[in-house]
Amino acid sequence: MGINLEDPAVAVRESRLGSVTGYCGSARELCRKSRGCTLCDQSRAFTQCISCSANQVMNQLVFIQDAAVVEHGPAGCSGDIPGRNITGRSGRKKRGLPVRNLRYINTNLEERDIIYGGADKLRTAVRAAEQRFRPRAVFVTTTCASAIIGDDVSGICDEMEKEIGIPVVPIFCEGFRSKVWATGFDAAYHGILRKIVKPPKRRQPDMVNVINFQGRDVFSRPFGQLGLWPNYIVPYTTVERLSHISEAAASVQICSTLGTYLAAGLEEYYGVPEVKAPLPFGVAGTDAFLRELGRVTHRESEAEDYIRSEKERIAPELDRLRGRLRGKRAFIGAGAAHAHGMAAVVRELSMELVGNCVWHHDAVFDSGDARSDTLAHDVETYGDFGIDVCNKQSYELVNMLNRARPDIYIARHAGTVWATKLGIPSFLMADEHFGIGYEGLLRMGRLILDTVSHPQFVRNIAAHGRLPYTKWWLEQKPTYFLGGGAE
Ligand code: SF4
Repeated sequence: MGINLEDPAVAVRESRLGSVTGYCGSARELCRKSRGCTLCDQSRAFTQCISCSANQVMNQLVFIQDAAVVEHGPAGCSGDIPGRNITGRSGRKKRGLPVRNLRYINTNLEERDIIYGGADKLRTAVRAAEQRFRPRAVFVTTTCASAIIGDDVSGICDEMEKEIGIPVVPIFCEGFRSKVWATGFDAAYHGILRKIVKPPKRRQPDMVNVINFQGRDVFSRPFGQLGLWPNYIVPYTTVERLSHISEAAASVQICSTLGTYLAAGLEEYYGVPEVKAPLPFGVAGTDAFLRELGRVTHRESEAEDYIRSEKERIAPELDRLRGRLRGKRAFIGAGAAHAHGMAAVVRELSMELVGNCVWHHDAVFDSGDARSDTLAHDVETYGDFGIDVCNKQSYELVNMLNRARPDIYIARHAGTVWATKLGIPSFLMADEHFGIGYEGLLRMGRLILDTVSHPQFVRNIAAHGRLPYTKWWLEQKPTYFLGGGAE
């Protein structure tokens, strides 16, 4: 099942990519099963909490500068919005944009609407969004409630588009649609590909789409050396700029978990080549990434010059960091592709990887190209390691951390609080671009060294704190509830 822009709803990752939310074993075996189409999901007999697709849609759409989002659902589904508003305000400030709140409306479905339907509320909300924000496009996102009652969201969007004269884009992302929260990214990109992106009028041979979240600008320098510039999408771009991403020379992504669908869709529908390579983490990954970018944009020699000069530049400090970090034990908890990137970084720093806990696993990415297989890149370049697909289950993570007792826990999204309560030094990779590229490897090395060198603070906290998990649970295998139930 591939990308079908005729269908208003995106195909979910379970069916499209063979994604799973439960696995425990070796990374090599996970790669083998993924490629052989023999990977089966293992369900849990107990689940603590998970993310939902509707949440991940917001991760991209509410940050488009001149768009508005109408979420068709109960007010409770907007629980993530206050936090996103803070992110959006600080993100705008970092980019020199006027600080303001998100342009978001929730239709506030209530009991009465569940019985009689919420179509009128949706129409009213879209009109209000148009009048209040004067956007260039409105995205209408679904939730469990609006999907269950069966409101004709697609039909209402078409009707409202005619009435207000701007794209009104339905995004089908209700939480129960997919077990894999990352399907929400695909849902957002599906709507953008269907209704915002226009066929190219001309090619822009120096523009490279960078599918990303909110990270710092780490691409202008290397891309500049190749005569390219990064077009960061989707947060903080505009509807007009999004309409032209079909004109780019190539698309890259900072995380294949995030960008697989958009990159593949742009290639399939508009001929924009996706850079099919490991993510630019660690020397090996960055080499391969830049070489492939150079190849698809016809800048091979510039890429080689840049690779050579950068490797010479970082060599002395990289040697020093490797000497200081050799044998230190790292545990990583992150989204799948990002965790693979972090795994490359710690092993290039001569550290031992004692745990890699990923939120879900995609058996393949949308391109279907083995060069984009970030996990296989790790296994082939650095050797096998243990991996757990934990679906963001904190109870499993705490159990694993307690057993592994690493020198450092590196987290993306969540978990540093648990490491701290266990007396394990940690940091949160809030800026997902922090470890990218040659300089990112050094940045990571410095931060890891600083963190492992100062463990006393968290040890003090652990000595005076109490875990909410019982002794019984910490003595069980972390996979106790995986595969259908307890023994
Ligand atoms: S869409 Fe469904 S799963 Fe997501 S927040 Fe709303 S009710 Fe919860």
